[in-house]
Amino acid sequence: MNSFKTEPDERVGELIEELDFHPLTAKIYVKYNGKCAYCGLDLLETTVKYHSGTIDRILPKSKYPELEWEESNLTLSCFSCSDLKGEYDVLESNPENALELLANHQENLIYKIKNELSKRMQTVENERIRVKRIIRGYNKAG
Ligand SMILES: [Zn+2]
Repeated sequence: MNSFKTEPDERVGELIEELDFHPLTAKIYVKYNGKCAYCGLDLLETTVKYHSGTIDRILPKSKYPELEWEESNLTLSCFSCSDLKGEYDVLESNPENALELLANHQENLIYKIKNELSKRMQTVENERIRVKRIIRGYNKAG
């Protein structure tokens, strides 16, 4: 059934050669199948979603500048998740074995970030509902 699909390495090569993607960016897009690693948003579904796609650093470059271009520190994200995450440090410190943790426990780190982002997203959701009621004029009880 999938016999006509290209292999992941070929896809990476096509993105680099045909669309001038940075090699790391191409690898990350293919690895995550064009979906946000945190919320699962399909960044290839619409133009707006595609435009919100960004390469996110699991460990923020402000605290881990040495890992800025480390492949295991890169992930695909939508703008919203990346923005909400900000400088959040899932390790809550700057351990010497950060690179080893990325290499061996990347999925676990992403899982922890997802939990933090869903809390932060709930705060945004509560605000959105209140703002909507005010702006649309439905804020008076009764
Ligand atoms: Zn997302």
